[in-house]
Amino acid sequence: VRILHSISEVRSALGPDEEVGLVPTMGALHAGHGALLDRARRENQILVVSLFVNPIQFDRAGDFQTYPRDVGVDAAFCQSHGADFLFAPSAAVMYPEPQRVFVEPGPVAEHLCGHFRPGHFRGVATVVIKLLHIVQPRRVYFGEKDAQQLAVIRSVVADLNVRVEVIEVPTLREPDGLAMSSRNRLLSDAERAIAPQLYRALRESAHLVESRETSAARVRSAGEAVLAQCPEFRVEYFEVVDPVHMQPVLEIAGPVRIAVAAYLGSTRLIDNVLAKPRP
Ligand code: AMP
Repeated sequence: VRILHSISEVRSALGPDEEVGLVPTMGALHAGHGALLDRARRENQILVVSLFVNPIQFDRAGDFQTYPRDVGVDAAFCQSHGADFLFAPSAAVMYPEPQRVFVEPGPVAEHLCGHFRPGHFRGVATVVIKLLHIVQPRRVYFGEKDAQQLAVIRSVVADLNVRVEVIEVPTLREPDGLAMSSRNRLLSDAERAIAPQLYRALRESAHLVESRETSAARVRSAGEAVLAQCPEFRVEYFEVVDPVHMQPVLEIAGPVRIAVAAYLGSTRLIDNVLAKPRP
């Protein structure tokens, strides 16, 4: 894998007619990212991974500072998954001047993480549009793990007529159900032992939806009851939303996304599942 630091290096490394797949990441790569890399590797001639801890999407300065970083380890990971290029710009390359123009994602970013992390998705949408303009990929890959991010990107790409195919990759989980995340390594052993309850709570709610429970309030309560068994969780939200616009649902009549955010100590974990009423 060749590491590229500047935008001009990217431009000269990638020919105009090449079929490029881009996987945007913030590094601290794990098997979940690996699933995106492997899929993109299969589907494109050239695989570019970007690694950029984007300051403008962090709403808590401490979170930005403690975000795990190790470019050497990440480069080896990319190499082992067959990536051609790792674009790892500095903040000065991405933001030579304070950013003046921002992409406002609108209603899709109103609820869930968007509500609790003001400005987060505006930062995500802005950096993703910049990355798409720099790399100009044919396909860009995102994980279902961050379902609202995916919905934001789909909405931005559609509304701004960006010529790229957005591809969703299912969430990769640890054997005990915990969604893989760079933040998992910040958990203590005790917190790590409790963390899989998040997925258990989501599954409990999803099971009700599958059994054709139509009240979103009851579906939420079932999951919240699972989390209430562990007082260590500080639940930020547990919501049932429509999977495209990410708006809260009251009566369930089709597929819904059930999403949760909760703190264990100072680590914020998110997870979600898609649930469909059985026909
Ligand atoms: P991040 O580095 O956390 O910004 O994540 C980069 C990309 O990897 C995003 O599109 C995430 O949704 C995706 N991702 C992170 N964790 C997982 C996972 N466990 N399974 C699938 N995709 C993931």
